[in-house]
Amino acid sequence: MRKDHSVEELAERRHTLAYIRLILSRRPIFFKFPERMEAQFLEKRVESSLFYIHSGQWLLLLMFSVILGMAWVYFRDLLSANHFLLFKSVYFPVGAAILFILYGSRLPWVRRNFHKVMFPVSLMQMVLIQQHIFMSEGNAYYDYAVYNEMITMLLIALGLRFSTPVLLLFYLTAAGAGLLTAVTLGFPVNLLAFTYYYVLYGTVIIALAAITERQERFAFLQELLAKIQGEELVRLNRKLDKIAHEDALTGMPNRRSFDEVAEKEFDRAMRDRQPFSVLLMDVDYFKRYNDTYGHAAGDKCLQAIARALQEALMRPADMGARYGGEEFVVLLPNTPARGAVQVAERILRWVDNLQIPHESSAVAEHVTVSIGVNTLAPLGQNTLKEAMKQADEALYEAKGSGRHCFRMHPQSSADVPA
Ligand code: GH3
Ligand code: MG
Ligand code: MG
Repeated sequence: MRKDHSVEELAERRHTLAYIRLILSRRPIFFKFPERMEAQFLEKRVESSLFYIHSGQWLLLLMFSVILGMAWVYFRDLLSANHFLLFKSVYFPVGAAILFILYGSRLPWVRRNFHKVMFPVSLMQMVLIQQHIFMSEGNAYYDYAVYNEMITMLLIALGLRFSTPVLLLFYLTAAGAGLLTAVTLGFPVNLLAFTYYYVLYGTVIIALAAITERQERFAFLQELLAKIQGEELVRLNRKLDKIAHEDALTGMPNRRSFDEVAEKEFDRAMRDRQPFSVLLMDVDYFKRYNDTYGHAAGDKCLQAIARALQEALMRPADMGARYGGEEFVVLLPNTPARGAVQVAERILRWVDNLQIPHESSAVAEHVTVSIGVNTLAPLGQNTLKEAMKQADEALYEAKGSGRHCFRMHPQSSADVPA
């Protein structure tokens, strides 16, 4: 059996639901989730980042090859006499970084620390590309290098999916580190031009990333809401099912439940040509019991009898149910009359053993029951309804014979010992 939800779990769920509804109704511009939810969200982002990286790997490699090839063909001479060194110091490390992002991200360790690893790797790419910009100030390669940097930043923002504040930090660090490197290497720095294009495209890219992240956060909440509501529905359905099939007083299956199972078992018995028994049991002088000890005591008595009845049933397929009022029913699939009689005797004894005092009973000093037994022969042409009616007739017989006993219906299959 599935364990019910713990109180803490339900409280937390209610708390989460309240939080989700609040955010979805207020729709704030910037917001962060509570700690655990935030971690789940970031994990999801890494997953989708990896998905896009791996899906787009050929496109990325193609793009890099085109950029590299065109630089080599058209701008080789412009870069400097020492162009090969420059290719080596910029394009090759950037290419290596791309390969690492594509294939290193498959390593579990990298996956776990995705953003921590990708931050320095992509920072290095940005800083190196910036050096091309600074060193080609005034020649035709300059624009090419600027576009390269823009596209790199865009791919980093959309592909690696740093969260917006981290992306902002990345962007500023890249600017600082790029400038510092250029000054250190002695490249001329045109600060005005650098600030102009860097701020221009950076703003657009970061705004784009922030808008995307905000939408993803809302989508994440919607998804979570649907999931929680789905689980709630399953839980309520289960509860409803329980209410519909369980007797509230005794916790036993109720009549509806019995009817459903009995119908199936009856059909199976007829199909497989197996004997099939039902027992109908009624508490003796129960009205008097209520009158003497009160209704609450009557309820307790019924609960005790229900427990005794359950304990008297030994086989897993046997089913006891509260049939209504102070009547109980027992279903014994694949059980001939001999077995049904044994069960009836055992129930009588088990209830006797309870020794619940009943001073106004006319048959004993304690609470007793009467039982009607009916067994269907494997080849009988009965219906379940008929079987129940015969069990009821047998019960009537037992009551008529002085109670505190069982009676077999005369048409039951006759394999009972004399
Ligand atoms: P008999 O020996 O012929 O069966 O007599 P009886 O008094 O048991 O039979 P009768 O059908 O006249 O009375 C059944 C009584 O069971 C009447 C009703 O108040 C009581 N009863 C039915 N359901 C409940 C219940 O859930 N709790 C309590 N305390 N009493 C119940
Ligand atoms: Mg009755
Ligand atoms: Mg009764």
